Amino acid sequence: MANVTLEGITKRYEDVTAVDDMNMEIGDGEFVTFVGPSGCGKSTTMETIAGLTKPTEGTVHIGERDVTRLPPKDRNIAMVFQNIALFPHMDVYDNISFGLRLRKYDKDEVDRRVEEAADIVQLEGMMERMPEEMSGGQRQRVAIARALVREPDVFLMDEPLANLDAKLRVHMRTELQRLHRRLDTTIVYVTHDQAEAMTMSDRIAVINAGQLMQIAPPLECYNEPANLFVAGFIGSPSMNFVEADVRSGELETENFTIEFDPATTDGLAPGDRVTIGVRPEDVYLERTADGVEHPSGLIDARTDVLEPMGNEVFVYLVTGDDADTSMDVEGGAATDDQLLMSVDPDTEIDIDEDVSVVLDRSRVHLFDPDTGTALRHGLISAASATGTPERGVGDTD
Ligand code: ADP
Repeated sequence: MANVTLEGITKRYEDVTAVDDMNMEIGDGEFVTFVGPSGCGKSTTMETIAGLTKPTEGTVHIGERDVTRLPPKDRNIAMVFQNIALFPHMDVYDNISFGLRLRKYDKDEVDRRVEEAADIVQLEGMMERMPEEMSGGQRQRVAIARALVREPDVFLMDEPLANLDAKLRVHMRTELQRLHRRLDTTIVYVTHDQAEAMTMSDRIAVINAGQLMQIAPPLECYNEPANLFVAGFIGSPSMNFVEADVRSGELETENFTIEFDPATTDGLAPGDRVTIGVRPEDVYLERTADGVEHPSGLIDARTDVLEPMGNEVFVYLVTGDDADTSMDVEGGAATDDQLLMSVDPDTEIDIDEDVSVVLDRSRVHLFDPDTGTALRHGLISAASATGTPERGVGDTD
């Protein structure tokens, strides 16, 4: 086991900067996931840890060792990739033990390690199966076992579940968490799937355009996103964003205002522009908002589209008279005239209904519209300090 330290890692190809001054410290035994859109530099960063890519600048340490110039085989790491390449003509035992036999480990040691790894990934009794006789999930477990027998300091996993069907992927997520608990080994994991990142990791590193946007526990990224990118990327459907002018005592958007004291916010003054962010679950119908401790004033809206999900209903609201209702292909509200709200499935609500909604002001996020940086304000920190928003408490405003 070991910690991994990246210092100033930059990787440039001719005209592309794939990774741009990446700094992070991954703790001994920690499960850290790199997440971000396709092409943001996740794999390249991971490859610099693996030794498959030499950084243009910067250093990689595993434990106390500077491994920046060492080949992969001297780094004591093990890798699991999306494309599982098992040897088709070898059974499970031979596939798992291949690397150890190549390195001429003695037979007892090979047997011990294979047995232990097979036990961890629950492949006991399958040692004589051939890859073609196994399901995708079982084959992926063989690949993990083959990495386990190396007894590495660090596991590197690049989208290892990407080729599995949706149900199996969810199942393997829980298996990987169990595996991490049992092994207590450092795991660095790459995925573009924010749900996968949220559910498995101790911390997630959100990456965009080669740069580290935030590294924090999943719920901290969700509740206290450091910037607009993290706010929009983490959480599905996405957070609502609306531009507003800061006035004395309120934030004024094109279609509604919410009362607010700019004095409580770092660096905001009347006359400034600000981007308001609010998640769908922090928008309430007025008639169900009794428990919201810090409600905004009423916002008039019309229901446009309902999306019943079973456990909740997504309600696309339109605010303003000349509303732009074009839809976002990514899901979530697409324009400043739209607001996406999530309500209980038993809520009585129709399409084209005029409704009044409120925002939970303690859950409203503010961002600098130019830099995208999150601005802290008094009500936000009070809410997130407890980790969960307080609901069901009487209105104190
Ligand atoms: P991700 O894993 O987040 O999808 P990558 O790390 O694979 O992203 O790629 C980051 C960027 O670097 C992309 O723009 C990609 O096209 C570019 N890139 C990656 N590898 C190479 C390469 N060998 N040559 C040129 N550009 C590359």
